Amino acid sequence: MTQKTVLNPKLMHDHHRVLILRHLHFHGPASRADLARTLGLAPSVITRIVRELTAEGCLVETECPRSSLGRRPTLLAFNPDYRTVIGAHIQPGKLECALLNMGGRILARWEAAVDSQPDPKQVFDLLLKAVVALQRDNTLGLGIAISGLIDIRTGETIFSPVLQWERVNFREIIGQACDLPVHVENDANALAVAELLHGAGRHYRDFLCVMVSDGLGGGIVLGGRLHRGVFGGAGELGHTAIDPREDAPLCRCGERGCLEEFCSKRALNREAQRLGLADWRALGEAARAGHKEAERVFRRFGYFLGLGLKNAVNLLNPEAVIIGGDLMEFADLFLEVAKEVICRHSFPRGRTAPEILLWQVGKEGFLVGAGGLVVEEFLTSPIKA
Ligand SMILES: [Zn+2]
Repeated sequence: MTQKTVLNPKLMHDHHRVLILRHLHFHGPASRADLARTLGLAPSVITRIVRELTAEGCLVETECPRSSLGRRPTLLAFNPDYRTVIGAHIQPGKLECALLNMGGRILARWEAAVDSQPDPKQVFDLLLKAVVALQRDNTLGLGIAISGLIDIRTGETIFSPVLQWERVNFREIIGQACDLPVHVENDANALAVAELLHGAGRHYRDFLCVMVSDGLGGGIVLGGRLHRGVFGGAGELGHTAIDPREDAPLCRCGERGCLEEFCSKRALNREAQRLGLADWRALGEAARAGHKEAERVFRRFGYFLGLGLKNAVNLLNPEAVIIGGDLMEFADLFLEVAKEVICRHSFPRGRTAPEILLWQVGKEGFLVGAGGLVVEEFLTSPIKA
């Protein structure tokens, strides 16, 4: 028996709009004919929606740069200045906010000092000030990146060992106070969104984005979408267990033997202390100056990073692994070892080893990714699979 599906025309129309916008955002300018062919849509549908999007200012027409005989086709491009978004990154000691265009370009900044383990009320008040200072008439929404486990269904920070927050939820209150849609996300996930929309992940559908910093965070992109898991806890690479010993180092999450106890600034700071050096940065500089034991510490760091990533690669089979975070300023001391471990061990050998890439969005990535949460929502079909 054939079952008929009744399609809601408005929903289909909105779905087609998103298909066109997504294609132009990720693949760059295309002609109407290219869009019809690639997306499998009737030329009449393309013509109608393109006319509508162009009138709204969401698409702009541009001429094909190739020199060719005959008429050059008019290309359509996503207009990054169509709307603005606000991104906020809540960190120990600092609240950073920015107004961005939809192409991830920072248009204005707002920054304030907060306590190292700030009171949520203090952050809430400052965030509202930032939104008032940055918001424009065309602002689509606010994205907030926070270190910790976020329940994205409610926007609640379930637990943040870095900020010492438990059960903090200000998505609704802030949304009401500033009358904008608010998205709250783990900061490593926000970084993955930044790389997906505007950085090294733009041309990959399946990749893992890792942030080597105070801890070891990760964001997983599968099928071109951030994979959040049930409670937004997917990608917590730093808390995968790597040391089974009963007396393995105790992690700040309360468990023992977590990867980030071997692979983070904290781990390097401990090693620096052991060698009589100030911190991870002094350790890095000593290694570059030929300090043998410091060099060995970084090689071991690379080995553990590689081991953790190898496990993730075997689980997910991504096309690429993007590595970022402020420890990347010493990437020359550990990245080759990590790459060697990932590629040597990944199954099946050789042929399908993922590309290992450095982050492109850099330190601005958390802000860009926080704003990117709003862009990502804008580029999401109303039809949920
Ligand atoms: Zn842990």
